[in-house]
Amino acid sequence: MTLRTSRRKFLITVGASAASSILLKGCLGNPPSATNNASSSTPSAGPVAAGDAPETTTVKLGYVPIVESAPLIIAKEKGFFAKYGMTGAEVSKQASWASARDNVTIGSGNGGIDGGQWQMPMPHLITEGIITNGQKTPMYVLAQLNTQGNGIAISGIHAGKGLGLDISGAADYIKGFQSTNGRKFKAAHTFPNVNQDFWIRYWFAAGGIDPDNDIDLLAVPSPETVQGMRTGTMDAFSTGDPWPYRIVNDKIGFLAALTAEIWPYHPEEYLAIRADWVDKNPKATKAILKAVMEAQQWCDDPNNRAELIQIVSGRNYFNIPASILEPPYAGKYEMGDEKPAVNDFKKGPLYWKDDRGSVSYPYKSHDLWFLTETLRWGFHKNSITDIDTAKKIIDKVNREDLWLEAAKEAGFSDIPTSTSRGVETFFDGTQFDPENPEAYLNSLAIKRI
Ligand code: CA
Repeated sequence: MTLRTSRRKFLITVGASAASSILLKGCLGNPPSATNNASSSTPSAGPVAAGDAPETTTVKLGYVPIVESAPLIIAKEKGFFAKYGMTGAEVSKQASWASARDNVTIGSGNGGIDGGQWQMPMPHLITEGIITNGQKTPMYVLAQLNTQGNGIAISGIHAGKGLGLDISGAADYIKGFQSTNGRKFKAAHTFPNVNQDFWIRYWFAAGGIDPDNDIDLLAVPSPETVQGMRTGTMDAFSTGDPWPYRIVNDKIGFLAALTAEIWPYHPEEYLAIRADWVDKNPKATKAILKAVMEAQQWCDDPNNRAELIQIVSGRNYFNIPASILEPPYAGKYEMGDEKPAVNDFKKGPLYWKDDRGSVSYPYKSHDLWFLTETLRWGFHKNSITDIDTAKKIIDKVNREDLWLEAAKEAGFSDIPTSTSRGVETFFDGTQFDPENPEAYLNSLAIKRI
C-alpha cells in the first residue's frame, strides 16, 4: 500500500470514528458503576501541578481492535487522558498493522499518527528503518499495554490428533500432512516477525516441527484465516482475543494452547510513540503515561470488567457483541477438542499487575527476548546481527526511565526496581536468562542461527 492510499484510508477511518464516538457517548450516557470502588468514579480535576502542564493537549494514538488496545480506549473514554491534561488525545482505529506502521512514519502532522499500540519489536524495526523501506523513524517504547489474551487456534478437521500445548506426539501427523493431502500444514499470523509469529513458531519448534520447513507459515488477514479454517484450507492461527473465543464458539475449530500456557505472563503489546514527538513533548508524554497507567489499573479491577466490555465492544471501537468478550475477560476459555476448559481470571488479559510483577512497566529484558528471538529465526540478519547490536537498539528505543518518572510523579505503587524481570521459563522447560541470551539460543534445537 502506498503512503498516499493509506493516508486517505486513515482520514476516512478517523472521520467515521469521530462521528460514531459522538453517537456512542450519547448511547452510553454515564453508566452507573457496578460498585462504589473509588477507581470507578469519574476522575477529579487537578492532578496536573503548576509547571507540569503538558506542552500540548493533543496526540493521535493508533490502535487495533483487539483486547490489547483496552488501556488506550479506557484512558480516553473514562477521562484519564483529560484528567492529566491531554484533553485532545485521540485514539484512532488502524485497518491493519501495516497501516499503523505507515501512519506512524507519516506522523500526525501529515494525517498519520504519533504512536499507539504495537506488536514487538515493531518500534525497534521502524526505528531502524527495517520494515519501512529504509526510512528510519525513531520511536520510544513507553509502556507495555497487556500480557496474555492470545492463543493458537486449530481448524476442526484436526480434532483428535493430539494438537494441544505439547505437540511432540502430533509431529509426525503435521509433517506428514503433505503426503496425504497434497499441501503442507498451513498456519497464519497477522504480521511477520512479531509477537503472534513468535508465539506460533515457539510452539511448533518446541514440539519438534520446523516452522520454516515442515509447514507453511504466513501473514494473512484474520477474517481470511478464519474463513480458511472454516473451509479446510487453513490449519492453524496464532491470534488474539476475541478471535479464539469466536473460533471455538462458531465450531470452526479448537484451541491448542493459550499464550498464557506457553509462557505465563509473557510480554505482549506495547505503547510506543515517535521519538521526535516525545522529545518535543516530555510532559505530555508523562501525562499520557499516567493516564494509560491509571486506565490499566482500572481495567484490572474485576468490578470494572463489565463496563470495560461495554465500552470497547461499542461500534466505534471493536464493533462486536459484548457477549464475545465476556468469557476471555473472565479468563474463561472453552478449548474444544475434548480439552478441559480454562477458568482462571489470571489466564486472561491482564493490564497492570501479574504474579511476576508489573505488566505496564516495559522491562528491557523483554525487549531483549524479542530481539533474541529475531536472531533465532534469522529475521533482518543484515541489520540485527548479534546480541550486542540488539542491546544497543534497545537502549535507544526503550524509555523505561520515562515510565518510572511518570509512575513516581503520579504516586502509583508497584514500581519495579530493575529493568530485568529475571529468568523466564517456557512451558517446555526452556529458560531465557536475560543475563545470558546466548545460552538460550544454544539450548534451542530448531533455529536459523
Ligand atoms: Ca497480540
